[in-house]
Amino acid sequence: MKTITCQDLGGPCDLEHHGDSADDVINAQDRHLKEAEKAGDATHQEARDAMKSRWRHPRKSMGWYKETKAAFATLPDS
Ligand SMILES: [Zn+2]
Repeated sequence: MKTITCQDLGGPCDLEHHGDSADDVINAQDRHLKEAEKAGDATHQEARDAMKSRWRHPRKSMGWYKETKAAFATLPDS
């Protein structure tokens, strides 16, 4: 199990996500951003918009996805 923060994934806060794969924590971050948007949290809006556009342009976002996967792979396992 690894830990990555909202900030590590391009967000503004230090909320921690725990998961065994990069996909797990990316999905957790996606949920977190959606909830922040629903709650009217403006600090997360930019990250939320960036994530939305990634889903819309998956091919253009491959670089971000690969980088995030690589960064996740270097995290210590706990
Ligand atoms: Zn956050």
